[in-house]
Amino acid sequence: MQKVKGTYDVLPSESYKWLFLEKHIHQVMKKHQIDYVRTPVFEYFDVFHRQSEASDMVTKETYDFEDRSGRKITLRPEGTAGVIRSIIENKLITPNHVLKTYYLGANYRYERPQKGRYREFYQTGVEVIGDKHAVLDAEVIQIAYEIVSTLGIKDVVVKINHLGDAETRLNFKNALKAFLEPLKDQLSEDSKMRLESNPLRILDSKVPSDQALLKGAPVLYDFLTASDQKYFTLVTDILKQYHIPYIVDEKLVRGLDYYAHVVFELQANIDGFGSQNALGGGGRYDDLVAELGGPPLSGIGFALGLERLLLAAELQGITFKDDAPQYVAVLHMDSESKIEAYHIYKRLLDDGIDVSFDFSNKAFKTQLKHAISNNHTFAIIVGKDEIDTNTVQIKHLLTQTQEVVSMDDILTYLKKQ
Ligand code: AMP
Repeated sequence: MQKVKGTYDVLPSESYKWLFLEKHIHQVMKKHQIDYVRTPVFEYFDVFHRQSEASDMVTKETYDFEDRSGRKITLRPEGTAGVIRSIIENKLITPNHVLKTYYLGANYRYERPQKGRYREFYQTGVEVIGDKHAVLDAEVIQIAYEIVSTLGIKDVVVKINHLGDAETRLNFKNALKAFLEPLKDQLSEDSKMRLESNPLRILDSKVPSDQALLKGAPVLYDFLTASDQKYFTLVTDILKQYHIPYIVDEKLVRGLDYYAHVVFELQANIDGFGSQNALGGGGRYDDLVAELGGPPLSGIGFALGLERLLLAAELQGITFKDDAPQYVAVLHMDSESKIEAYHIYKRLLDDGIDVSFDFSNKAFKTQLKHAISNNHTFAIIVGKDEIDTNTVQIKHLLTQTQEVVSMDDILTYLKKQ
């Protein structure tokens, strides 16, 4: 049997990094008083397949199926829609209240697997509903950046753009279309199709000849209303004040159609990262809450890819290793002493001691070597002689000194150290 294409196992040699990363994320969210929500991995098809959403992710990459009762189901390709569905269904939106939530979980997209891109992958994300103010946009961007920077990851820059409202985008789309139409034959196949379906996506085409054709194309910023331009300046001013490295990228459009106004992406400029160098991204959505049946409130959010955060950390030599010494190893001299040694181990566990037990049938010397190489401070040694005299030997593995201690006094002895 093999795992499904585009998936991976997290094995013990890697899993500690995942635990570290997840704990780190929960800590940052707690600090900012953002509440954790967990929604189902699958939702009704319509939660993601909304009329306004024509992005590739939703139209070409979702895992859709019927359950045994014929319900149309979709594995979530992203976190936002499910979280918003839940917030509305559970009536968490109240007037004059800014709701701050976050999630962490697996998503599923039928994409072409490559380095940093999988069919099952993990994201953490924040969704903030209830107000539209430049302070909130700047705050959400800073939280995304903080998660990355406080992990120790460097060389990350925030790319930011303003997509305007629906009317602005329509005007801009038409202007862009009119500009590219005479050049249509020279566009890549993908971009040719996008000229009809979503010309904005041509802006972030990775094909160099497409990019060359875009020289002199209309610029979105020029189409923004004066108040949108002001809003954008306010956001970038706050980012500057709080020393967030950012660049305005007029070609940043993002993959989902629900985004409007401020959008951003965290880009890793790290050697060896490959072409998938976005650690995450997000932006403001004006219509999504209403579209999913809620009040007409604007929201803003982001999602960070956990695999990419781990890759960035690895490339920069961040180990996530917990080097704290393990305290006590209980070792048995021979198989007859194993049961008594086991009972001592269980007692110490109950007493809250950081203790391990070697369940294998390794020779005593090998157990000892293991305890040393695994960074233990003490070894408690149990053999026939010790059992007969109701004692144990306690060896200090750093100083190599050894003492005989009564079985009843082990805890007192350890606590005195
Ligand atoms: P998106 O939901 O497409 O805006 O993606 C947000 C972030 O999730 C990206 O910047 C990546 O870090 C991560 N991501 C998206 N798709 C994948 C994937 N197929 N495999 C791994 N990470 C992904």
